[in-house]
Amino acid sequence: MFEKRSIVFEDAGCHTASRLSGRVLILNQSYEPITVCNVQKAVILVYLEKAEIVATADGKVIRSPSTAFPFPSVIRLTQYKRVPYRRIILSRKNILRRDNHCCQYCGTTAAPITVDHVIPRSQGGTDTWENLVAACIRCNNLKGDRTPEKAGMRLRSIPRRPSHVSFIIHSAGTVDEAWRPYLFIE
Ligand SMILES: [Zn+2]
Repeated sequence: MFEKRSIVFEDAGCHTASRLSGRVLILNQSYEPITVCNVQKAVILVYLEKAEIVATADGKVIRSPSTAFPFPSVIRLTQYKRVPYRRIILSRKNILRRDNHCCQYCGTTAAPITVDHVIPRSQGGTDTWENLVAACIRCNNLKGDRTPEKAGMRLRSIPRRPSHVSFIIHSAGTVDEAWRPYLFIE
């Protein structure tokens, strides 16, 4: 059995008992990405035969006293799991995150960024993913209480609710190369 203390992280032939770090992408049985977990959890899932390793991190091996284990980078559940996807909360912070803190009218990231109602509230515009965009103060003031068409301004992209995949990417912080084919961002 893999006990926390008995797992040894081996990198390039050098044994170190350092804590396992790194993140592992979990796919459903259908290969749909579900979430990201730490290596320890991934190894336990594989050990319990609840998941199989789909991609490994190059040159890394995990050892217990009795077994050696490839270091997982992507694992796949052996049984299909119904996943209630966490809804991404509509908030100022998440709008700015979705738009990479980049003004959706002029493209600047330098100026202070605000949130703009594409269709102004005074004209029936709602607080939705589709109607809120990041906008710099200048563009926000320039646009005023008008629609982009009336103001002669163009959105650089169509605002949408962020996908589950983009949530995974944001929560993981970085994307492992081995994850790309499964996140459809090749
Ligand atoms: Zn702007």
